[in-house]
Amino acid sequence: MKTDEVREFRTLLKLLQARLRGDVEQLKEEAFSGSESGNDQRSSNHMAEMGSDAWDLEFSLQLVESDQGVLEEISHALKKIDAGNYGLCELCIEQGKPEAKARIAKARLQAIPYARNCIECERQKEKRR
Ligand SMILES: [Zn+2]
Repeated sequence: MKTDEVREFRTLLKLLQARLRGDVEQLKEEAFSGSESGNDQRSSNHMAEMGSDAWDLEFSLQLVESDQGVLEEISHALKKIDAGNYGLCELCIEQGKPEAKARIAKARLQAIPYARNCIECERQKEKRR
């Protein structure tokens, strides 16, 4: 995955994390007060440029908001970003698949940025339940 893509997902994860913790307002201030402090107009434009993807998350956020486990998944995903293996399916890697075949589809990550597994593995897990 490209560095700027990973950075984008990191932002998404941070937003999600902050939202789940209930301090999203504080995070927004931290994230956007940086270089252009005191310029509200610019901040909101920047927010829009960040892509609607972050705000498309609204729906899934509502579904997971009460789930404490999600916070753990998010910090796990952030650790994967630091380790450089973000976006790779953990089960595929476990099965010894090469990285190129273990990638989680981007659309899936956009919907669930903390997903640990690709859709195929997730389906396998469902079946085993
Ligand atoms: Zn997989």
